[in-house]
Amino acid sequence: MAANASSSTPQTARAPLGFGRVFTDHLARADHEPERGWGPVRIEPYGPIALDPAASVLHYGQSVFEGLKAYRGRDGRVRFFRLADHARRFAASCEAVCIPPLDPAVFVEAVRGVVHRDIAHVPTDPESALYVRPFAFASEAFLGVRPAHEYAFLVILSPVGAYYAKGFGPVRIRVEQQAVRAAPGGLGSAKTAANYAASLRAAQRAKELGYDQVLWTDAREHRWLEEVGTMNLFVHLDDKVVTPPAGETVLAGITRASVLTLLRERGVEVEERALSLDEVREAAGRGTLREVFGTGTAAVISPVGALGLEDGDLVVRDGQAGPLALELYRHLCAIQRGEAEDPWGWTEVLES
Ligand code: PMP
Repeated sequence: MAANASSSTPQTARAPLGFGRVFTDHLARADHEPERGWGPVRIEPYGPIALDPAASVLHYGQSVFEGLKAYRGRDGRVRFFRLADHARRFAASCEAVCIPPLDPAVFVEAVRGVVHRDIAHVPTDPESALYVRPFAFASEAFLGVRPAHEYAFLVILSPVGAYYAKGFGPVRIRVEQQAVRAAPGGLGSAKTAANYAASLRAAQRAKELGYDQVLWTDAREHRWLEEVGTMNLFVHLDDKVVTPPAGETVLAGITRASVLTLLRERGVEVEERALSLDEVREAAGRGTLREVFGTGTAAVISPVGALGLEDGDLVVRDGQAGPLALELYRHLCAIQRGEAEDPWGWTEVLES
């Protein structure tokens, strides 16, 4: 099978899946026209889509997306994690770039519909999942800088393998103190393509220097820690856990919100507040920097073993994963797969 082709054989039969290279047999689609608004959701065969070369998205980048997963538990049932929250964030992202917001109920209907159609592709491996990628873009053929009049909304599905195929391992992240991804008043709180385009050069540079991802700092002073490429940041300092506030320049991660709830439930003191690089350095010097980890849909929890600074690496816990990151990882994965209690109603079963 071609690496990027779709297939009628359930992906569960194949290994290794990796991330985002294989797609299932169907997609969901709805189109928006000015008079009618968003039209009905259709489930169609997966395949290339027709796009006019003048389609506004190709020129001015009006495009937003979401990323969530459907998990198959040991009980064989398929569950979504916080689907309604993803639907709400999608509508907010649409508004940030003048795309007519999709009703969250329609988002949920489209995701449920296409996953139900391709339910055989939800992998059974304990740590694999079906990655769900809803996205919307300006499809109108018009070369002019203004919000487009026509849009398309699609949902595609990609079975993905275990993120930690080689064990729960720490990543090395480079603290970026020159390039800017998001600035106050900009698009940082939205999942819009522009933010990811703005991140690529610094991410490539970090890779060349031997790091896995970038940790963004504030646009004005490059002093305050914001978020990692596709993860929110948590730092365990002494007896509390600190995370930078979600807002204009930091995405309100759904894993972040879940981790905050789990930490509070455990009685851990948590602070959502500005956190400077100096504070982390000083804590490392005093021996009170206990753990650093990232949170996001792809990896759930990602321990950080080193922060790359201009004058060398600040090594965290001798480059080893910490116990809090591991406990949170296990707890969240168990909730996502229906193997731990979910008093918050985060998961919902998709009846087959
Ligand atoms: N920040 C950015 C920039 C991201 O792309 C993501 C991934 N969606 C996150 C944080 C984590 O968000 P979530 O926990 O909702 O996946």
